[in-house]
Amino acid sequence: MKITLIGTGSPIPDPNRAGPSTLVQSGATNLVVDCGRGCVMRLTAAGVMPPFVGAILLTHLHSDHISDLNDLVTSRWIMSPAQATPTIIVGPVGTARVVDGLRAMLALDEQYRLDHHADLRSGPGIVLDVREVSPGDSFEIGGISVAVGRTDHRPVAPTIGYRFEADGKVAVLAGDTVPCAELDDLCRGADVYVQTVLRPDLVEVMKQFLPAQAPRLHDILDYHSSVEDAAKTAARCGVSTLVLTHCVPAVQPGQEADWIAQATPHFGGRVVVGPDLTSVDV
Ligand SMILES: [Zn+2]
Ligand SMILES: [Zn+2]
Repeated sequence: MKITLIGTGSPIPDPNRAGPSTLVQSGATNLVVDCGRGCVMRLTAAGVMPPFVGAILLTHLHSDHISDLNDLVTSRWIMSPAQATPTIIVGPVGTARVVDGLRAMLALDEQYRLDHHADLRSGPGIVLDVREVSPGDSFEIGGISVAVGRTDHRPVAPTIGYRFEADGKVAVLAGDTVPCAELDDLCRGADVYVQTVLRPDLVEVMKQFLPAQAPRLHDILDYHSSVEDAAKTAARCGVSTLVLTHCVPAVQPGQEADWIAQATPHFGGRVVVGPDLTSVDV
């Protein structure tokens, strides 16, 4: 199994970091978890064109995690044969509502393309297979087993994380969450645990430079894992490799060791932090 950080950014725009998105690959199967800003562009850089995306899985419906869903859906449709397989979109309760809105947004474009391309008209148009899942659910896509676990990103709810199993290896993509018992259950014994993180110490510095935004910056602290939180979760659960992503604030070039140093006192395994397209093989 191969895990690639398609986008390591956060809601704060960054010229070098796409929005949150992670690619899980095993054999010929490509699963995309969350699809933030620039996701399709980075997927292409990772060698995965939209028609080869087997499913899109969403951890939650915050805009930074879904802002390029429309691009992925449209690009997959117009680059595929007219009779292509439906685009599978898995997500928490609420996903169907978001996708209904997306379909409405894309309706004119879909009609333009159908009117213009006779071969596309021979197919059914954009076909989306939306599957709302809940903690405790499990399913299989393209040889990868997927288990769904509850996470804690309140007041955003429901939010979920995914545990992927293939080739005898386990990768957990937790999404935005603070530590909780359900997250521990999801992560137990994982070979790779990917956690979205922030640095409370640096957010405090940002608050001083951006006093007008200070209250909003303060709010983000209580529903994300810090690097220390992620490291402690990894240690408690016997994880082998901890991967940090969606770093707030963005990791500046050359500062990677500084981020890793916040994890190592609490976790003895490997800690990975890097730019978009950083990958881990297990
Ligand atoms: Zn979020
Ligand atoms: Zn987020």
